[in-house]
Amino acid sequence: MNTPAESVPSPAAISCRGVTKTYGHGNAAVQALRGVDLEVRAGELLMLVGPSGCGKTTLISVLAGLLQRDAGECSVLDRDYLQMARGETTRFRGQNIGFVFQSFDLIPALTAAENAATPLLISGMQWHAALEQARAVLRKVGFDDRMMRSLPAELSGGQQQRVAIARAMVHNPKMIVCDEPTSALDSESGRMVMELMRQFALGSDRVLVVVTHDARIFEFADRIARMEDGRVTRIEDPPSRGHEPEHHS
Ligand code: ADP
Ligand code: MG
Repeated sequence: MNTPAESVPSPAAISCRGVTKTYGHGNAAVQALRGVDLEVRAGELLMLVGPSGCGKTTLISVLAGLLQRDAGECSVLDRDYLQMARGETTRFRGQNIGFVFQSFDLIPALTAAENAATPLLISGMQWHAALEQARAVLRKVGFDDRMMRSLPAELSGGQQQRVAIARAMVHNPKMIVCDEPTSALDSESGRMVMELMRQFALGSDRVLVVVTHDARIFEFADRIARMEDGRVTRIEDPPSRGHEPEHHS
C-alpha cells in the first residue's frame, strides 16, 4: 500500500501509562504522581504547566531516569529504566539526555565553557575538542569570549541559566528536560533560548519537555500538557504560531 509520508505518525519518544510516585512513608507520604498518562512524539517540544506542587518536577525527574517510578508503564526512547542493569541508567542518561534544573547546578570551580563541556568530558571527549564544542553552543545563547571564561559566581542568574541550557544541549542528546528554563531570563534572552530549543527539536527525532510558568514562551510549544494534582489532565494546542488566532464567542 502506498501511504503518504504525512500520515505516518512519528514514533512516541515518551510513553507513560498510569505512572505513580510517592515520597516518604506512612503519615509523611506525599503522592506526587497519581497515574500520569502521557505520549510525546519524536520531534516534539512539549510544555508542562500546572500549579506549584502538582508534580511537574517529579514527572520530568522520572522521565530523565533520576527518580524511579513506583508503578505504571514508562518508556523513554524505547527503553524502560526499570529494565536497565545497574550502571546502564547512568550511561544511557549521559548519552541520551540533557537536563536543565531549576537550581542550574553549575560547578563553581569551572568556567562557563568548562561547565557547558562537562557532558562531553564525561563521555571521554578530548579537552580541547569538548571546549570548542561547548563554546559553539554558548555562542548560540549569546555568550562572548569573556563570559565563557567567567566562573558561575561572576555571572548573573540569567547567564548561569544559559550555561545550564548550553550544557543540556552540547552532547546532542535525544531528549532534553528543562525545569523553568526561562525563569531568570528577560524576554529577549528567553525567546533566544526557546528559538534554539525549537530548532533543536524541529525536524529531528529529538524530544523536549519543558516545565514552565512563562506564558511568554507558550507559543514555542507543539503542545501543552496541563498537570493537576499528580495527573496530566489536558493536552492543549499552544497559542497560534503563524496563523490567525481562534476567536471564541
Ligand atoms: P511541582 O514541580 O509541580 O511544583 P513537585 O514534583 O516538585 O511539583 O512536587 C509534587 C509534590 O511532591 C509536592 O507536594 C511536593 O511537596 C512533594 N515533593 C517533591 N519532592 C519531594 C521530596 N523530595 N520529598 C517529599 N516530598 C516531595
Ligand atoms: Mg517544580
